[in-house]
Amino acid sequence: MTTKISRLVNLSMFKNEYSWGTAVKENTTDEFHQKFDTALNEVKNDLGKDYPIIINGEKIHLSEKYQVKSPADTNIILGRISNCSKAETKQAVDAAKSAFEEWRSTKYQRKAKVFKECADSFSSKKFHLAALLSIENGKNRFEAIGDVDEAIDFMRFYAYQLELNNGFEKETAHPNPDEKTKVTLKPYGVWGIISPFNFPSAIAIGMTTAALITGNTTVLKPSYYTPISSFKFVEEIYEKIPAGAINFVTGPGDVLGQALMENSDVSGIAFTGSVEVGMACYHKFIRDSVKPFVCEMGGKNPVIVTQFGNLDKAANGVLNAAFGYGGQKCSACSRVYVHKSIYAKFNEMLKNKTSNLKIGLPWKKEVFLGPLIHENAYNRFKKVLEIAKRDGEIIVEGSMLEGPEFQNGYYVQPTIVSQLPHDHELMKDELFLPLICINEYDSFDKVIQLANESEFGLTAGIFSENENELSKFFDKIEAGLLYANRDSSATTGALVQIQPFVGWKKSGITGKGAGGENYLQQFMRAQTQTRCERINE
Ligand code: NAD
Repeated sequence: MTTKISRLVNLSMFKNEYSWGTAVKENTTDEFHQKFDTALNEVKNDLGKDYPIIINGEKIHLSEKYQVKSPADTNIILGRISNCSKAETKQAVDAAKSAFEEWRSTKYQRKAKVFKECADSFSSKKFHLAALLSIENGKNRFEAIGDVDEAIDFMRFYAYQLELNNGFEKETAHPNPDEKTKVTLKPYGVWGIISPFNFPSAIAIGMTTAALITGNTTVLKPSYYTPISSFKFVEEIYEKIPAGAINFVTGPGDVLGQALMENSDVSGIAFTGSVEVGMACYHKFIRDSVKPFVCEMGGKNPVIVTQFGNLDKAANGVLNAAFGYGGQKCSACSRVYVHKSIYAKFNEMLKNKTSNLKIGLPWKKEVFLGPLIHENAYNRFKKVLEIAKRDGEIIVEGSMLEGPEFQNGYYVQPTIVSQLPHDHELMKDELFLPLICINEYDSFDKVIQLANESEFGLTAGIFSENENELSKFFDKIEAGLLYANRDSSATTGALVQIQPFVGWKKSGITGKGAGGENYLQQFMRAQTQTRCERINE
């Protein structure tokens, strides 16, 4: 009982950063906007710089560089960054290998301190980091600060976890008093960290922190499109830990990512990205050996709206989950099942709300939806729209946006399509675009089955005030995060510690959630140590 209470007390020491939510609660939203606008001006005055890679504690500028452009306006060059090859990736792994002994044997209290200090430093400049991120990957200001907040949360939460678990070392009680036993979790060695474009702060930092704080050394390879937000973290921390403990390489994902998969000195991989790339990497990495591969992948997340749900709440929840950041979230809602008795009414409400969404430069205060991440996504949207028109019934017909504000970015109007067959490619494949498929249903048991018939299992939502339906939903749905009646977003927006982020099926490999109590243990292996002491002699 005492242990349980002290554990709760300790856990309550962790507090989510939660910037926008706090501003709303404390009635300080004007101040929030003013801070963001000031930071935006600072960032705009600081664009176009050269960014280095970092290997063995040294900043290195390669002569071959590429430009990092804003998807909101490709005339905005955030900076120029080195275009690495397999050779630099190998150097980074070598450096991480050399640094392992010193970092692994550093006391856990010291490791926790480094990350708590880094989190505090990030917190003090979070508006600056969020403004940069908004320009880099096109998130609106609320989503951008959420991304940075989550990175801060990961650093603080993993530090607290490490302290709470005494560095993951504990004595076990042996029935023979002559034997003293303890179990200690130890790091593996060098980890490759491969992160996606859509959370260049939170996910890149979350995975790297988990690997490092548990005593491993790392090579971070961020997304080709969004390296600068991730660089900000490496720049903050690399001089506070042994040279080579964190290395940072940038360039094409297939070249650098494959160099990590092929290098036998890499002991573990933390990957977040698409199922295609993730599964290919997984098979390659473990082909000739047994090594940990912590992997989070895509989703095809369903929402069920029943005749017992509040329709206005449901329409808001679906709208925010489906079109927030243009559907470019693994947790985005992409399939909606509506009871036939309310189907027409719900569609009308969703249509009206969708048509009124404010689309534009993402960093502007009033904008809900910014651009897609790159030309490929933009062209994919065009193609998918044609397929939707050919095979379904269009409720809202999206388009490629034109006009002065849109001409240099990848802006599209969201699309809602209905009546596609259950096994249609748009109903099955992760699109990662602002397009949702809506269908009607008549039996609750059947709709649960339809929701589960997906190779993915990340998030799911329901709108119903009926207790039987809610308990069946929580009992039967095969996904890692379930939400009921959440109008702020039906399927997205998990908070560190409170809502560990778990992928089932092809959405994730380990069944342990990022930001949860079971996450850090994946970066370590247990060792049981027994000493015989003849205490009666
Ligand atoms: P992606 O798979 O294209 O790229 C992910 C990372 O892999 C990038 O760093 C990329 O450079 C690298 N990469 C690309 N080709 C590679 C190769 N051949 N070998 C090794 N590495 C390679 O994904 P993305 O477009 O950056 O991100 C979107 C995807 O990420 C979506 O599928 C989304 O669902 C998923 N995602 C999942 C979660 C989660 O927690 N489950 C969170 C965010 C994003």
